[in-house]
Amino acid sequence: MKAWQDKVRRVTPYTPGEQPNKASMIKLNTNENPYPPAPGVRRILDSFDEDRLRLYPDPAATSLVAALADRYGVGRDQVFVGVGSDDVLAMAFLTFFNSDKPIFFPDITYSFYPVWADLYRIPYETKALREDFSIRAEDYYPDNGGVIFPNPNAPTSRYESLSLIRDVLDHNQDVVVIIDEAYIDFAGESALSLVAEYDNLLVVQTFSKSRSMAGMRIGYAIGQPDLIRALNDVKYSFNSYTMNQTSLAIGVEAVRDEAYFRRTLDMICATREAAKASFTELGFTFPEPSANFIFVTHPDYEAAELFKALREKDIYVRYFDKPVINRYLRVTIGTDEQMAALFAFLKSYMKKG
Ligand code: PMP
Repeated sequence: MKAWQDKVRRVTPYTPGEQPNKASMIKLNTNENPYPPAPGVRRILDSFDEDRLRLYPDPAATSLVAALADRYGVGRDQVFVGVGSDDVLAMAFLTFFNSDKPIFFPDITYSFYPVWADLYRIPYETKALREDFSIRAEDYYPDNGGVIFPNPNAPTSRYESLSLIRDVLDHNQDVVVIIDEAYIDFAGESALSLVAEYDNLLVVQTFSKSRSMAGMRIGYAIGQPDLIRALNDVKYSFNSYTMNQTSLAIGVEAVRDEAYFRRTLDMICATREAAKASFTELGFTFPEPSANFIFVTHPDYEAAELFKALREKDIYVRYFDKPVINRYLRVTIGTDEQMAALFAFLKSYMKKG
């Protein structure tokens, strides 16, 4: 081994869902939105002056920050934007989880959290969910270096009430608590309503799911100005120009079209209701879904086998070969047509098996 190899920062990376690109595939594996972005996005792209690409973008992303501040009724000094919520979360880990005490997050959750913790050498402890995949607030009472969990949680799709979040915040006033709301628009009330009350609460959201723009990579955090200032100080110590010119232009447009946003959300929630009925009819069970995906298991079929059989038909869902959840499949809610194809396949497969 060469001397330098001993000094390389070694990490076990996060494994993103596969991104196949086949014309006929049904892609229900990475929780993308099946509908296109708001129609104004097309107009902006069509008239985009490529000469703007010569110039660096606005490092403060002022236009996008302003659009988000207006949309959520907060100050411009309360919004931080980044390259997808992964970038925002990675910055938040680096900025706020800086203690010798372990940070806490659930044992079953977004599998990027332990990766960032390892990358930044942040000690962490995971807290087991209840059997129904709910979060036990008391687990987060002991002294810690910070708390993070998604709401709704991933990959379970379970939503926790604001009273649980308030409970966790009340017991953690000396550390930063991050609520990762990647899927909140498909669920219930957002913890944004608690930001004015708790100066240690950071709420992170994304354009990747409810705004149909996973390919553009836009995420944001909302919190009190001290938190946002600290995040910006770290960002400017890392990479000043995170948001590219096109992201800024079309991001603003997407935030402004509230009617389209509501319409596509309603469509996905209606398809989710129908999917619940179809899965139940086939004998699957699942925790009540509150995101744009459903986490299903079947008493008579191995999830790993179903995953393989579906994949052979170019129907992609997500399977996690991990303790506790290795009998489950995470299925993104697609269009009604995509879901019909999924259920047609499952019906014929299960008849044979
Ligand atoms: N948080 C959770 C819980 C997620 O499932 C995802 C999607 N992989 C993200 C954050 C990151 O999404 P993005 O970077 O596309 O905003």
